[in-house]
Amino acid sequence: MSAEESRKTPPQSGRAVIVAIDGPAGAGKSTLARHLARHFGLLNLETGAMYRAFALKALRAGLPLDQSSALEQLAAETSIRLDPGDEENRVLLDGEDVTGLIRNPTVTDAASRVSVFPAIRAWMVGLQQQQGARGGVVMEGRDIGTVVFPNAEVKIFLDAAPEVRGQRRYEQLGQKGVVAPTPPAEILRDLRARDERDRNRADSPLKPAPDAVILDSTHLTLEQALAEAEKIVADKLRTPGTRS
Ligand code: C5P
Repeated sequence: MSAEESRKTPPQSGRAVIVAIDGPAGAGKSTLARHLARHFGLLNLETGAMYRAFALKALRAGLPLDQSSALEQLAAETSIRLDPGDEENRVLLDGEDVTGLIRNPTVTDAASRVSVFPAIRAWMVGLQQQQGARGGVVMEGRDIGTVVFPNAEVKIFLDAAPEVRGQRRYEQLGQKGVVAPTPPAEILRDLRARDERDRNRADSPLKPAPDAVILDSTHLTLEQALAEAEKIVADKLRTPGTRS
């Protein structure tokens, strides 16, 4: 389906289509979400960037990352917005563009820690629902198909073996020109720690929604994974009853 067709398709319950992409760290969700958004003429919203922006604020404030009450207080005086662009989301933290400040290992680790708290998640989920309310979006994260938009028309759970995810992350760093990239073993250790926290937290743990299509890219090239995902979305959008 072309972008034009997808925009013309009548919306379900007053809103346009939502494509939910969930999965563990380093599975390639961002690349996939960006590709699907372009292909189907949708906006791409990266929810991980919102947790990262909040983590950055908590780090700047010197807050302990294991105390929900202090974090909740901080959340009450924080505004976070995603401004979807062609390449990536601009992330606005209290109006400040922090896009370039949230991808380093310290913020990555902090985001994984602050996201375990139910009050922080409830606040984030509300923001994400507001941002995606009109539909016409690909939303990517850990709990989009299960919690944020359980009625999303399309749900993909993107997975890959941890070793493969670690190796891909390492190669990405090399392609970006990082001179001394973190060694693969260390990347793998960090991925596993984040996965563990995401999968085992009591509130909205990382898991596929019952109606998600599992896409395991362990043995797929990037092109194959993108083609497979395009097909999943196009098939779902064609299925009678998916949208009316
Ligand atoms: O996707 P990304 O790696 O940018 O997410 C950063 C962290 O935010 C993840 O490690 C995860 O713990 C958390 N997260 C989450 N729920 C989401 C998106 C991200 O818990 N929907």
